[in-house]
Amino acid sequence: MTFDELKLAPAILKAVHEQGYETPTPIQAQAIPAVLEGHDLLAGAQTGTGKTAAFTLPMLHKLTHGQSKTNKFGKDGIAALVLTPTRELAAQVEESIRTYGKYLPLTSAVIFGGVGMNPQIDRMKRGVDILVATPGRLLDLQQQGHVDLSTVEILVLDEADRMLDMGFLPDVKKILALVPREKQSLLFSATFSDEIRDLAHTLLKNPQSIQV
Ligand code: AMP
Repeated sequence: MTFDELKLAPAILKAVHEQGYETPTPIQAQAIPAVLEGHDLLAGAQTGTGKTAAFTLPMLHKLTHGQSKTNKFGKDGIAALVLTPTRELAAQVEESIRTYGKYLPLTSAVIFGGVGMNPQIDRMKRGVDILVATPGRLLDLQQQGHVDLSTVEILVLDEADRMLDMGFLPDVKKILALVPREKQSLLFSATFSDEIRDLAHTLLKNPQSIQV
């Protein structure tokens, strides 16, 4: 399997080729077609498997070449939301989105706790297509009226098990109540406890399951 067989837009393939990637990793080979087809996803994958590109590449494709109303530089609101447990992971994921999306008319932003809110508030005012966030700070900004999640079309929970281990389940549930019911949801986790399965059951509709 090659990246060119994955039906991703040329602008995305160009960025992937520039990274020097030759073939999709197993999680990418399975997740990318499933997400492009519109399925919800329950993916078991550790860090280092290429999971970030597995959700980022098809997400970028759908936002620019699908039926999404996005690609107006955030003017139509947040189209995709990626939740991560830590600020380091949030920053890494947003960096990947910038790398793979460098030839696309999309804007991304990252918000996490432990730093001043004002730069993040200013950033949100300029419009964002793809938001990467840790749950606590996202809710703070939402409650203060700086983040509107009512336009989200794609939701990703990355490292969901770590998110629950860190006590974010109540925050995640509040966030799920703020995004539209009609959306595509992708859940990535290294391990599957009963709690994760419950969360997956609440969030995902007829998900495709992938385990690498
Ligand atoms: P991740 O599991 O998303 O943290 O990715 C682990 C590392 O693998 C990152 O440094 C990526 O740049 C790299 N990577 C992702 N996909 C591929 C690929 N298809 N071929 C080679 N390296 C990759």
